[in-house]
Amino acid sequence: MSNWPEWLPLKKELKSLTPYGAPQVHAEARLNTNENPYGPTAELSSAIAKRIGEVAKNLNRYPDRDAIKLRAELAKYLNRDGRQAKVDLTVSNIWAANGSNEILQSIFLAFGSGAALGFLPSYSMHPLIARVAGVNWISGNRNLDFSLDTQSAIDKIKEIKPSLTFVTTPNNPTGQAVKYDELKSIAEATASIKGLLIVDEAYAEFSRERSAIHLIKDHPNVIVSRTMSKAFAFAGARLGYLAADQTVIDAIQLVRLPYHLSALTQAAAEVALDFQSELLARVAQIVDARDEVSKALVDLGLKVVPSDANFILFSGFEMSSKQLWQQLLAEGVLIRDVELDGWLRVTIGNDAENQLFLKALKGSL
Ligand code: PMP
Repeated sequence: MSNWPEWLPLKKELKSLTPYGAPQVHAEARLNTNENPYGPTAELSSAIAKRIGEVAKNLNRYPDRDAIKLRAELAKYLNRDGRQAKVDLTVSNIWAANGSNEILQSIFLAFGSGAALGFLPSYSMHPLIARVAGVNWISGNRNLDFSLDTQSAIDKIKEIKPSLTFVTTPNNPTGQAVKYDELKSIAEATASIKGLLIVDEAYAEFSRERSAIHLIKDHPNVIVSRTMSKAFAFAGARLGYLAADQTVIDAIQLVRLPYHLSALTQAAAEVALDFQSELLARVAQIVDARDEVSKALVDLGLKVVPSDANFILFSGFEMSSKQLWQQLLAEGVLIRDVELDGWLRVTIGNDAENQLFLKALKGSL
């Protein structure tokens, strides 16, 4: 809505905004919000139902305000990350909330002042939450192939001295991962101006790169934001978390709402973490499918941005993004128009959805 009535004391800086709104329309293949296509197995959903049944008996009581058990399990999960060198996170390095969007909002509430810096195209909620939090959002440039230009990022950090700098890796909507050593240089640049580096790792489990969680010990100004929405196929449950130095967690306590994370959410997430081996095996399957779909797109003569995530950004079609998006939807395939001229983003689905997408695409080109 752009014509707000005069009687409504809506904040001036919100008047021109539009709410986040990926279309939630029916389609045979819903490949538009980077969800995991595999729902919980019967075993996992009944384990969740059983735990929820137990927790339900105590719903007259507030939940554990500090979500200690869940945070301890999340720390263990990060420490276990087999592909990488050891990290030693504990419950005091983790904070959890209702999705990583809430995590990002808490970061803005606690630390956002002056300017925040990011590098568009990237996750559209970073600038939106900045505006809502009354923080001036500034975007630095990327290379023409959408990769991060580390030197230009560092120059920009030193020039504008943002309280918060955002790097999304793998980046949404491009899928590209930032190299660990580059993140480290950016972390050092943000520390030199007494700012925080927020590494949004919503898609980390799909990536070949080393996680920024390894930076935390020597770079206390680094916050790593994670989510169970993607790799854990848990978007409907809403569980995001961050890993950071203990002082960051202590500061976040100042802005958290009491009892923000329901007992039901905490219990469900703890059960999902018990099933992590099963869930992460699905991640490997999605990664293989991503590489196959990428190849199929190239074989169709399209241009593909190399992806480290569970989605692919592609271009090289002759009509407008909007037109191709519409044609695919008419064939039952919902993908995402990320408002980048000539590009569209598709989430990796299950085999049937991927085949349907490729067939509809072939018929539309
Ligand atoms: N960060 C990035 C980069 C994302 O793409 C998303 C979801 N699309 C989120 C954060 C938020 O995820 P959630 O709130 O489900 O944890």
